[in-house]
Amino acid sequence: MHEISLVQGLFQQLKDLAAENKATKIISVTMEIGPLSGVVIDSFQFGFDILSAEESLFQGASLIINSPEVNYRCTGCGYIESTNGARPTECLKCEELLLIPDGGDDLLLLQVEME
Ligand SMILES: [Zn+2]
Repeated sequence: MHEISLVQGLFQQLKDLAAENKATKIISVTMEIGPLSGVVIDSFQFGFDILSAEESLFQGASLIINSPEVNYRCTGCGYIESTNGARPTECLKCEELLLIPDGGDDLLLLQVEME
């Protein structure tokens, strides 16, 4: 489960941020995790819950995850379908099967609230 190592990396980043800001507590963390980032959000949340319980800096911190939309462009007619759900199986306009995704592969730290 590579999400655990992603959370470890995130926590290292947050520790540095907290040290820079002389903060002793992380209150909330907002992440953007794209549907095509390869990250399983449930696993990421699970890793966050496990690891945050181990260190006082992160205890009680909440994780907010934004999942952005992906634009799927049809190679047949150019129609763009935006969704943050499952990948569309075919173009809604012309039933072409080859759709090219644009975006949605980001794993970003958007905002941190600390004190
Ligand atoms: Zn189409």
